[in-house]
Amino acid sequence: MSSSYWLEEPPAARPDRRLDGPVDVAVVGGGVTGCACARVLAEAGLRVRVHEARRVAEGASGRNGGFALRGGAAPYDVSVESIGRERAAGYWRSTEQALDRIEALAGDAFARTGSLRLAADEDERDQLRAEYELLREDGFAAEWHDELAAPLHPLFTAAIFHPVDAALQPARWVRGLAGLAAEAGVEIREGSRVESVDELDAGQVVIATDGYPSGLLGPLEGLIIPTRGQMIATEPIPERLFDCPHYSRHGFDYWQQREDGRILAGGFRDTALDSEFTTSEETTPEIQRSLESLVGDLVGWPVVATHRWAGLFGFVPDFMPVVGRVPGADRLWIAGGYSGHGMVLGFLCGELVANAILGRETPDLDLFDPARLL
Ligand SMILES: Cc1cc2nc3c(=O)[nH]c(=O)nc-3n(C[C@H](O)[C@H](O)[C@H](O)COP(=O)(O)OP(=O)(O)OC[C@H]3O[C@@H](n4cnc5c(N)ncnc54)[C@H](O)[C@@H]3O)c2cc1C
Repeated sequence: MSSSYWLEEPPAARPDRRLDGPVDVAVVGGGVTGCACARVLAEAGLRVRVHEARRVAEGASGRNGGFALRGGAAPYDVSVESIGRERAAGYWRSTEQALDRIEALAGDAFARTGSLRLAADEDERDQLRAEYELLREDGFAAEWHDELAAPLHPLFTAAIFHPVDAALQPARWVRGLAGLAAEAGVEIREGSRVESVDELDAGQVVIATDGYPSGLLGPLEGLIIPTRGQMIATEPIPERLFDCPHYSRHGFDYWQQREDGRILAGGFRDTALDSEFTTSEETTPEIQRSLESLVGDLVGWPVVATHRWAGLFGFVPDFMPVVGRVPGADRLWIAGGYSGHGMVLGFLCGELVANAILGRETPDLDLFDPARLL
């Protein structure tokens, strides 16, 4: 079946708000970023309308691995090198705080399981060890696992366990967040593709479309690179093999096992980089075969995939989100470009762009300055 396992769950009902006439802010994109942003703005008393071309969470927010990870898209030690130790530590802490806020809002869509980042070879083991040591020096909770049990051993050589991380049912979470936004007064217009910013009767406009090309970003259009990620869900596996989200090969491969025993796995983008920088949501036989074979190796027998799907995320070469005013366009804002790491960052950056619009203090905003892409 070619659809996201997560999105199969029927959405819960939410208040159906209709706002007449102009709004203070129009948000384009009904994923985690747009819903987080809209909720903060409405709670501050603004009139807000979200436009979503499909339905809430039907972009990457309902098609991902369901990993809620602290930190940025680059490893901690790499971020320390690129933005400095103090700022990297502050960035990591702000994502930990965002995880706490998500936990408080997400109900049973969220489980504080921790996550296990695995080394597939000695080089990766050395890299993970360097990251682990720096995390510990800077006061972050992390555990080093040298002796892995089957089925991880002998496929992987070591791992970092990140206890603050979590597993999500992402579609349930983001639909729930849309419900909270609607309760705060947001109008959510589904099936509403925005073709031009000029058609929006709004004081400010936030583009929250991450990897889905909106055509609305003016000078930034195309600079957040649409990138395909592919996934499978297997039939339920009777044995409980994985208690938390697992990922390896620098995050290229990732999987988690749900309560019903199914394993949801994604990855192998690096084996076809040329074809995976695309705006197509079609799956490809090569990557799908690799995913089945990875899960087969983990489980110990050939698995049957019941669901196959793909989604798009926005890749930025410096691995930093893009949040703030769109240069040269005075009522246009952006929050996106999470480089495949957007479930916590999208929530954080959606709130951040809302706070910037509200004129509140946003100390980290300069780290994500959109102008750096030009
Ligand atoms: C296969 C896959 C696995 C991933 N795994 C993880 C993971 O485990 N953990 C993690 O943190 N991140 C993961 N990510 C990344 C994460 O899903 C995204 O970064 C995040 O969902 C982005 O949220 P968003 O709200 O910014 O964008 P999206 O959820 O993509 O929403 C953007 C929305 O904008 C809409 N839109 C676009 N143009 C227009 C327009 N002109 N008018 C109206 N609407 C428009 C689209 O329909 C879409 O619904 C993964 C991504 C993929 C594809």
